[in-house]
Amino acid sequence: MLLMIPGPIEVAPTVLEAAAGAPASHVSPAFIEHFGSVLERMRTVWGAGPDAQPMVVAGGGTLAMEIAVTNVTDAGDRVLVVNTGYFGDRIADMFERRGAIVDHVRVEPGKAPTTAQVESALNSRRYKVMAVTHVDTSTGVRTDAEALAKLARAHNVLSIFDGVCATAGERFEMEAWGADVYLTASQKAIGLPPGLALLMMSARAVARRAELTQAPPMTLDLLQWKPIFDAYEQRKGSYFSTPATTLIKALDVGLGEIVNDGMDTVFARHQRVADAMRAAWKSMGLTLLADEGLAANTLSAIRYPEGVGPELTKAIKERGVIVAGGLHPDLKTEYFRVGHMGYSARRPDHLLSTVRAVAEGLVACGHNVDVEAAVKVAAAAL
Ligand SMILES: *Cc1c(COP(=O)(O)O)cnc(C)c1O
Repeated sequence: MLLMIPGPIEVAPTVLEAAAGAPASHVSPAFIEHFGSVLERMRTVWGAGPDAQPMVVAGGGTLAMEIAVTNVTDAGDRVLVVNTGYFGDRIADMFERRGAIVDHVRVEPGKAPTTAQVESALNSRRYKVMAVTHVDTSTGVRTDAEALAKLARAHNVLSIFDGVCATAGERFEMEAWGADVYLTASQKAIGLPPGLALLMMSARAVARRAELTQAPPMTLDLLQWKPIFDAYEQRKGSYFSTPATTLIKALDVGLGEIVNDGMDTVFARHQRVADAMRAAWKSMGLTLLADEGLAANTLSAIRYPEGVGPELTKAIKERGVIVAGGLHPDLKTEYFRVGHMGYSARRPDHLLSTVRAVAEGLVACGHNVDVEAAVKVAAAAL
């Protein structure tokens, strides 16, 4: 079975091997070296400067979102959510639980707000924080993170980017673009099993945390964790709450492979793979949920063709490939999702097996497609 959903994804054998074996002590020399190396490598993958603060905490992407929200907002703060789907609603809910006042720039599923729409919202009120989903996994839409980060900076608004389905798959240059928080989880394009929340906070975000009147819950608090991360970066053991030693060791291996390839290579690979997959979908007569030019490189959200429904994902699974159903509440049963990020982006065999399974699944559902032609289109573009 091939796991081709938008996370968790297939994991490289090198990473799996690093995650096998007895857990290390959190103060063993080998683990201290792995953790220190992880924090350094994160800066490269995130495009972050030396004054940015990496964070690694056991948990998922949702926890990373909550760490971001609680460390940069106080009750009563005004927040702008650039909402492209399901995860925009989730972070808005978190801000409201924190007592912040949330406005949305909202669009229909499959679209993204224009930079001008966001700019006019930023001009209309004094916002403290703006939150953007880099790739909304519910719609397969990628926002223009560069333009939005620069816009927030120009308005002196702190920006949070949810990169859970993007980091290490879509270009992001935290320092150059002036973004303040970029967060993800281990099980998406980073290519690990689930279990780690990963964030990078700018010096501005760290300063904001220090000024808050309302401290975050203890285990989410950047100031509680910072001395620990500082110690490990200086290759010293330290303790606040036991880190996920096994996963952090595997993360060092996974990030090491990404850093060795180089970020330009990694982003170009995801672009090339996404172009190939989109060419294959097109050859089968399928259309994406995302508008032209907005489709993410890490996954495809694909509309079911006329006369076909969720039974397609079952037919695909019977052919050895697991894809995901819809997630956006407005059109859950109208589309399905295929992940093409991380390790599988380096495996043409995974990608071509997926194209074949989707094409054969469509045939099984009574939709006429040329299976061999679709596989050939993808193979030629990979
Ligand atoms: C998957 C995802 C999340 C949630 O991550 P969990 O690990 O499931 O908590 C948040 N945001 C985006 C954009 C995601 O794709």
